[in-house]
Amino acid sequence: MGAEVRRLSNWINGEWVESASTDRLDADNPATGEVIASVPLSTESEIDAAVQTAKAAFPAWRDTPAVDRGRVLFRLHSLMRDRFEELSRTVTIENGKTLEEARGEVLRAVENVEVAAGVPTLQQGSFSSDISAAIDEHSIREPLGVFAQIGPFNFPAMVPFWFAPLAVACGNTFVTKPSQKTPLSQTLLTELTAEAGFPPSVMNLVHGAGEQAQALSAHPDVAGVSFVGSTPVARAVYETATRHGKRAQCQGGAKNHLVVLPDADLDAAIPNICGSTYGCAGQRCLAGSVVVTVGSVREELTERLVEATSSIRLGDGLDPDTGMGPVISAESRDRAFTYIDQAVKDGAELLLDGRGATVDELPGGYWVGATVLHEVTPDMPVVRDEIFGPVVSLMHADTLQEAIDMVEASPFGNAATLYTNSGGAAREFTRQVNVGNVGINVGVAAPMAFYPFGGRKQSFFGDIHAQSTELVRFYTDPKVVITRWPDKTDGRDPWD
Ligand code: NAD
Repeated sequence: MGAEVRRLSNWINGEWVESASTDRLDADNPATGEVIASVPLSTESEIDAAVQTAKAAFPAWRDTPAVDRGRVLFRLHSLMRDRFEELSRTVTIENGKTLEEARGEVLRAVENVEVAAGVPTLQQGSFSSDISAAIDEHSIREPLGVFAQIGPFNFPAMVPFWFAPLAVACGNTFVTKPSQKTPLSQTLLTELTAEAGFPPSVMNLVHGAGEQAQALSAHPDVAGVSFVGSTPVARAVYETATRHGKRAQCQGGAKNHLVVLPDADLDAAIPNICGSTYGCAGQRCLAGSVVVTVGSVREELTERLVEATSSIRLGDGLDPDTGMGPVISAESRDRAFTYIDQAVKDGAELLLDGRGATVDELPGGYWVGATVLHEVTPDMPVVRDEIFGPVVSLMHADTLQEAIDMVEASPFGNAATLYTNSGGAAREFTRQVNVGNVGINVGVAAPMAFYPFGGRKQSFFGDIHAQSTELVRFYTDPKVVITRWPDKTDGRDPWD
């Protein structure tokens, strides 16, 4: 018996509205290949309706005291805790990652709600008395209107929640467009936002793909866009949004390097490297993808990494014995295979070959086994491009500086990690690498919700990163008020 196929609708003005579009896409469970949802490619007028209703809801929501806005987030937080397992299972079913990885993701989404609930403090302004004789000055941070979010498939619950909770906490209204490949987590979270008590139209959800995302990014009544996805699309959305006079923060792809020094504690580093490179089947924007060994550690690291990697068990993420789930689609699988084929043609050595991996009971899943390539060179596409699959390239450097230069040669700047026991080396690495997130003996340097999250170079277009007080800046604009009251100290009362 096939899986139940959910026919998805848009959430506009506090209700589920069937799309009039005749164009729909199927979303499937990547572990089975079975279709689980039918996703409408919403019409232009549906996108407009979501924006217009959010626009109409803005004045009343803006004028709702910040403490009351925060209290709705407290209720959302409690509902997300109550439905934690259901949310995590939804992520696994639509994305393929293991249930443990999905729980980690949902926890990160919950943490962003926790931070946003502190909005009365986060949105505080400042006050200076007597900037001149009897003149005071204060500043407040005001919300701007309707914000839109366009999300990727790889963190369907968490990534939109890097943005939505703080955007509405600050008094804006919101339209989310989740990835058409993973639309179910945001559908469930939308139900929870309604149950939490957000007034209708404060939070809206529209389904679609590129065209719908572009329509939101160009809409005259959208004040700003928060985008997360691949680099070419991040650049395109940034260009559309800024051309239309909007704020935009667009996070793109990545190619993260993990550098291992000879003094690293390999017992701790090897499982950590495996978690970074093969966790979520290599489909994290913070996944390690190139491992650079420095000096004498090369042979031991290579041997032990291959040994640790070869025991990773592929399977359905819902099965507790699964070590790695599928990649998102047949297209993603074939893309990873093409990169491996090309690397071998270019002279790389395959120490572990993930092509042709199968899972007996799940023949329809999109399987790529853990892959390790050796003898790769910096000019190979497998090192230069984002693959977004469980494929690791091993490179070697004679010195730390040479390794840092390899990190710097990448067009991406999302994350980089150094494994070492040397504080001096860690300091030098941290100072030199031009990335947004640095790990020292930490292979997935994922900032907590109260720290900013964003990359550099081709990994980010914009200037204000996601999460934390940074995001409060993105979702508000300062207004400065300079005040002089008639002076009553000269004995005259000006109102007499
Ligand atoms: P994607 O770029 O294919 O899609 C992302 C979103 O953009 C989707 O909602 C999609 O519908 C929309 N879209 C597609 N084409 C578009 C177009 N022409 N114009 C406007 N919107 C369009 O990305 P994906 O495959 O869903 O996600 C994986 C990518 O996301 C990887 O590159 C990964 O590195 C990146 N990512 C980055 C971060 C980060 O923080 N930098 C975090 C997570 C994922």
